[in-house]
Amino acid sequence: MQDTVRYLIEAVRSRKPHQVITANPIMLMAAMEDPAYKKIMQEAELVVPDGTGLVWAAQKGGEPVTERVAGFDLLHELMREGQSRHWKVYLLGSTPEVIQEAARRLTLQYPGTEIVGYRDGYFKPDQDLEVVAAIKAASPDLLFVARGADTQEPWIGKYKQTLGVPVMMGVGGSLDIISG
Ligand code: UDP
Repeated sequence: MQDTVRYLIEAVRSRKPHQVITANPIMLMAAMEDPAYKKIMQEAELVVPDGTGLVWAAQKGGEPVTERVAGFDLLHELMREGQSRHWKVYLLGSTPEVIQEAARRLTLQYPGTEIVGYRDGYFKPDQDLEVVAAIKAASPDLLFVARGADTQEPWIGKYKQTLGVPVMMGVGGSLDIISG
C-alpha cells in the first residue's frame, strides 16, 4: 500500500495520465476470456491486487506481491494524502443520490482535498464526450469511477489520454459504502 501511494504521488506530480486497476479474481477471469479486457489491464499503468485471491495467485504464479491493496482502502489513502497536497478530485458513477452523499461525506472527512465535481454513472455512450469534457474542465488530480468493473475499466481505458487526469481509478461499489 505504501509503495502504491508513493507511486501515485509521483504520478500526480508527473501530470501524465495513469490508469490504476484494483484487480480481483472476476476481473482476471474476464481478462483471460476477453482479449479487449486483457489489453486494458496490460496497458494500465498500475495493477494492484484488490483481494487475497490475487495475492495467492501471484504467489502460485511465481511473482509474489507483498500484500493486498484494496481499492476502498486506496481511495481513502489518496483522499488523506490529498489534504496536504491540495489535490482536486472528481467522482463519477453510481446513482445521483449516492454520488451526492458520497461527495458530502468525503468533503467532511477530508476537507483539504477538494471535490471539484461529480456526476452519476447512468449515462449512455453517446454522452461520453460531454462527460469527458466536464471532467477535463474541472481539471482534477484524481478521478474515481464507480460504474462496475465491466464498464469502468474499459471506459477509463478508452478515454484516459483524452481525459489526461494523472490518477484514474475504478472503485466499484466503494461510493455506495461511503454514502452509507
Ligand atoms: N453503476 C453505474 N452505472 C451503471 C451500472 C452501475 O454507475 O450503468 C454503479 C452502481 O450504481 C454502483 C457501482 O456502479 O454504485 C458498482 O456497481 P456494482 O456493485 O454492480 O459493480 P461491481 O463493483 O460489482 O462490478
